[in-house]
Amino acid sequence: MKILVINAGSSSLKYQLLDMETESVLAKGLCDRIGIEGSMLKHKKAGCDEVVIMKNMPSHTEAIAMVLDALVNAEYGVVSSMEEIGAVGHRMVHSGEDFNCSVLVNDEVMAICKNNTELAPLHQPANILGVEACRAVMPGVPMALVFDTAFHSTMPEKAYLYGIPYEAYKDYKVRRYGFHGASHMFVSQEAAKFLGKDVKDLKIVTCHLGNGSSITAVDGGKSVDTSMGFTPLEGVPMGTRSGDLDPAVLEYLMGKYNMNISEMLNYLNKKSGMAGVSGVSSDFRDLCAAAEAGNERAKLALDVFSYRVKKYVGAYAAAMDGLDVLVFTAGVGENTVEVREAVAGELTFFGVELDRELNANGVRGIIREISTPASKVRVLIVPTNEELVIARETLALL
Ligand code: AMP
Repeated sequence: MKILVINAGSSSLKYQLLDMETESVLAKGLCDRIGIEGSMLKHKKAGCDEVVIMKNMPSHTEAIAMVLDALVNAEYGVVSSMEEIGAVGHRMVHSGEDFNCSVLVNDEVMAICKNNTELAPLHQPANILGVEACRAVMPGVPMALVFDTAFHSTMPEKAYLYGIPYEAYKDYKVRRYGFHGASHMFVSQEAAKFLGKDVKDLKIVTCHLGNGSSITAVDGGKSVDTSMGFTPLEGVPMGTRSGDLDPAVLEYLMGKYNMNISEMLNYLNKKSGMAGVSGVSSDFRDLCAAAEAGNERAKLALDVFSYRVKKYVGAYAAAMDGLDVLVFTAGVGENTVEVREAVAGELTFFGVELDRELNANGVRGIIREISTPASKVRVLIVPTNEELVIARETLALL
């Protein structure tokens, strides 16, 4: 079966068409500037050059229609008709407490998703627009939703409750939800497969380190704790997000800088993290280059990041009372040697022995081990693939 995977943002829409027999990507692309002047579709058939098509896309409906046109195009398409697309898998940010796994789309499910937009006001409405546009253009094609939060629904109360009055949870659903669920699920399962073990027998800490970062404790295949919380602002400092912070800082700095609360949240979401600490960039490639060239604040930002990631690894080993596997994934986790070295290089107390040669060298883009044979904890780099998880989940639901 061929499955179309859609990840809709407010003005962009990413897609991939996968052949599930081989789990290979037939074509992928991006609709950019939806609803804005100068909208365009960038489409790439596997093994061919990218084509760019400039066309007005006033809404997500036109965007999806353009994607389908591109997929059946005689020159750069990959299917002869739309009927070849057996199902569509959509990324949806928030399941609230209503879904603990992926679900097939129907009116009732969509009504619940709309009800949860308050929990993810920036992303959920765009995800919903993507689903609705697809349902309009592809009536009768089965569709599934894969949530960022659902994998973490197994967290126990003691892990997801904040230390604030219980009524905030009961009345307003204020609790920790966690994000990047599809990625944490995927890499923990791939790690177990790679090691020839059943994920049910393993205690794994998965470090999804990218522009946004989160760490998850996966015990027996289930998420038991994760570093992001009510929103993706909690946890380790990220590209531009602060991560964990004493909430009293907000009032103090709002006074000093004369900011209102939305300016403060913008400061914490967009101006903090690596960009804020370093004053150089949010991008780890830039930070590593600047640190190498002697920039002290870039070096400091990398130290702050790696130290906080390491603290979460330690905390989650304690939470699970053990650690069998440490996994690095996403842009930074897969590519930034210095961060892996700083996080895993001095964790010998936990039985982690990093092989520095393997960490620094090796083929990118494939799963590989970077711990020594003597290491009690196996350390792996596992490339994440959120589109593949969405497609697999969709297929499983069918
Ligand atoms: P992500 O959000 O997973 O796409 O990760 C983006 C982050 O990964 C950026 O800070 C990049 O600088 C970092 N990164 C480091 N090396 C690479 C690389 N070779 N390719 C892509 N991203 C990289």
